[in-house]
Amino acid sequence: MTSSALRGTPLIERYREFLPMTDDTPVISMGEGATQLVRLDKLSECLELDVHVKLERLNPTGSIKDRGMCFAMSKAVEQGATAVICASTGNTSAAAAAYAARAGLTCAVIIPGGKIALGKLAQALIYGAKVLAVDGNFDDALRIVRELSENHPIALVNSLNPFRLEGQKTAAFEVCDALGDAPDVLCIPVGTAGNIAADGMGFGEYREAGRSSRLPRMMGFQAEGSAPLVRGEVVTSPETIATAIRIGNPVRGEQAMAAMTDSGGGVDSVTDEEILAAYRMLASSEGVFCEPSSASSVAGLIKAHAAGRFTTGERVVCVLTGNGLKDPDTAIAQSGGVIEIPADYDAAEKALYGD
Ligand SMILES: *Cc1c(COP(=O)(O)O)cnc(C)c1O
Repeated sequence: MTSSALRGTPLIERYREFLPMTDDTPVISMGEGATQLVRLDKLSECLELDVHVKLERLNPTGSIKDRGMCFAMSKAVEQGATAVICASTGNTSAAAAAYAARAGLTCAVIIPGGKIALGKLAQALIYGAKVLAVDGNFDDALRIVRELSENHPIALVNSLNPFRLEGQKTAAFEVCDALGDAPDVLCIPVGTAGNIAADGMGFGEYREAGRSSRLPRMMGFQAEGSAPLVRGEVVTSPETIATAIRIGNPVRGEQAMAAMTDSGGGVDSVTDEEILAAYRMLASSEGVFCEPSSASSVAGLIKAHAAGRFTTGERVVCVLTGNGLKDPDTAIAQSGGVIEIPADYDAAEKALYGD
């Protein structure tokens, strides 16, 4: 079936046998998942690899977060919740706000003030969430949200919530289904490390069920200024242009490290310059516009390739976690800018072809 045909079936229905669904679990869905894999022809040729990107921007709110959120929201409703809360660098808040609206629940989100991409903020607000901006970072926001959810009847939908990971692991299933088997390598950005931990579960469960024959090497990439797993310690003031992975204390760190190490992959960091170079290259050379955080998977691939960590011809999937339109400020700042001209033909001709 094509991706669009698959999208007609709710993600959690499609993979029901792999999820802790009960007869009482409602299916809260907006056509998430079934995102396309696109081959990067130029990069594949350049690196002598078979490189594909998984376009998670095709999810309803434009990021990978919808996979876990549709299931977390379904389970929250099953358990009788009437309100949900999360801390977020942006995409989780957009997803939580949208699925809560769909399910008829109220939603509160706490974000790091001034450090959230414009499009994500617009989403959380228009979907009707109550948005609190803290004078602090994601880790501060999460600490507060955890305490609130302990003191009040409000369901936590961060990736501490096990149902988030259950939904997120479907990305691994889809990669195997699309390629006929698991790839040699999976490259993915790492923030809270929920996604890479979930993918580890997904690839493992699929192989056990005989739906794939092997496990990929899992390579996770953090931004250099925000790389607690690479450094082996909490980063108290994480900094990076890649705001979705600006996280100093990854709640799924241990599980993720086990998944990466056991698979023969590992974790590494990439600089903001490397991330932005990959971000511009993906758009201008391959026609793929993702958000900066997402490009860290491709920046990481390029770095790992230079370090000799691939064999010629290997198949690699990089997860592009979110839509480039979420962060228009960075896109404009990273581009040539517009050329302003008077409204006449000669000026246009001169601007394009010179004198
Ligand atoms: C959430 C997110 C990540 C990181 O995923 P984690 O599960 O937090 O490691 C990367 N990129 C984007 C765009 C995201 O929204």
